[in-house]
Formats: sequence, C-alpha cells, structure tokens
Amino acid sequence: MAYHRQAFTHCQTAGCGRETRDAKPHCPDHLGAIPYVRAVRAQLAAYKQEAECLSADPPGRLDQSGLIAREVIAHVVRMPMTISRLKLELRSAAKLSAPTVERVVRAMERAGRIHITGCVRDGAMVVLA
Ligand SMILES: [Zn+2]
Repeated sequence: MAYHRQAFTHCQTAGCGRETRDAKPHCPDHLGAIPYVRAVRAQLAAYKQEAECLSADPPGRLDQSGLIAREVIAHVVRMPMTISRLKLELRSAAKLSAPTVERVVRAMERAGRIHITGCVRDGAMVVLA
C-alpha cells in the first residue's frame, strides 16, 4: 500500500475508521500498521536482543554483522572517536554498559574491523581498520 503523498482522513486499519489528523493513514492506536513503524520496531527489538545477549552472564559473542557492530562502524566511519566517546554514543542508543561496550570494541579489533590507537586509557582512539 502506498502511503506517500496521500491524504488520509480516516484510519486505514480494517474495522477502525477513526478520524485521523494531519492526513495520517492510521489513528494513534494503529500506528503499528505502517510498514515503516513496523520496520523500526522490528529493528529495535533485534537491537535489544543483541544488547541482552552481549550483557548476559556469561556474555554472548558479538555478531560481527549485527546491528551493534554496524553501529560502531557507522560512528567511527564519520570520525575517529575515543573509546569513552564511543561508549557514550552507543550507550545512549543501545543502553549497553561500559564494560560491554569495551568487550564489543575489543572483539571488533580482534576481528580486524577497527583499530584502537594510542594508549588504552580513555584517550585511545577507535578508528576504522
Ligand atoms: Zn485505527
């Protein structure tokens, strides 16, 4: 179903038909029917699952092609970043603990995907391999 550039006046969910505002295709109760919203929710759920796996005791292995590894790459591809800065960026998105972020970064370094330059203390920079 094409949602773009179409002005809706009523919820398109079968059996609802509630009036909508701002030409939206669904009422607030049925926003989940929009493909984009569904995709975002599915991605958030996958992200949460990955984060829980990494934070488990004992921690699960990092999925090098997973969402969290991809997010690390997305951050450091823009600019080299200190480990502490990366921790802040990732923790806001993924709610990962600092030790978990450290393990993620180390696992990615071992896999040759990123480099950690400089001294290991907080001044060390994470750069793309
Ligand atoms: Zn509705």
